[in-house]
Amino acid sequence: MNFESVIGLEIHSQLCTESKIFCGCSTAFGAAPNSHVCPVCLGLPGALPVLNEKAVEYAVRAGLALGCSIQGKSIFARKNYFYPDLPKGYQISQYEDPIATNGLVEYVVDGVVRKVRITRVHMEEDAGKSLHSGFTDSTQKTYVDFNRSGVPLIEIVTEPDLREPTEATGFFQCLRNVLLAIGVNDGNMEEGSLRCDANISVRPEGDTELGVKVEIKNLNSFRFLERALRYEIDRQIKIVTQGTKVDQET
Ligand code: ADP
Ligand code: MG
Ligand code: ZN
Repeated sequence: MNFESVIGLEIHSQLCTESKIFCGCSTAFGAAPNSHVCPVCLGLPGALPVLNEKAVEYAVRAGLALGCSIQGKSIFARKNYFYPDLPKGYQISQYEDPIATNGLVEYVVDGVVRKVRITRVHMEEDAGKSLHSGFTDSTQKTYVDFNRSGVPLIEIVTEPDLREPTEATGFFQCLRNVLLAIGVNDGNMEEGSLRCDANISVRPEGDTELGVKVEIKNLNSFRFLERALRYEIDRQIKIVTQGTKVDQET
């Protein structure tokens, strides 16, 4: 039996504003750990967020460039989870009523024009960064740098319209070019300015229902994305061929 792979991407793009999304702290990369922090981005009790107008402008610009409708009203929400790099215990994100919806991107892979629908673009804040190595006591301790905490992000979610790994990387490259060209992202994937979660499933060729998906998080290069997808497609096809079911997992 032949199998078809189905891929949807969730891409996190930092917005290259000078200050963070809810406070005046600098977003500059590479500063001494915890030097760009304040009560707001440290999540101290009583601190109140004030939305950065430039971040909204950049998110709108990205939404328009991806063919989305911009919503007249959008809403921020708390996404509660506990993690050391998330000092408030929740991330401010958008859930219902994101800033932009229903986009369409056309791009070219190997001379063929492809289309990917964009489900939504929403705004959120980045988390801090856990440092698991590089200190003399790193085998016992994890350190946290909150400079990245509160850096503005947009998350771009696609419909499961991608098929081959090369289509996914081609789309991701196209997206990077667009975000760079409109001046909302610096394109620096090694510094984590642009990173991608890949959702992937397989199904027998000809089937129209979606298979069970697996999500692979925080891919920060085109090559890693392609390799992760190839590995996961092979793994899922083996499972399905054996007559077992793929577990939905991250
Ligand atoms: P979740 O609620 O688990 O985040 P969503 O339905 O919001 O799932 O989809 C997240 C991403 O996964 C989107 O990019 C979407 O296109 C993709 N996706 C959803 N279902 C599948 C599937 N069966 N196979 C591949 N990708 C999928
Ligand atoms: Mg998800
Ligand atoms: Zn701050």
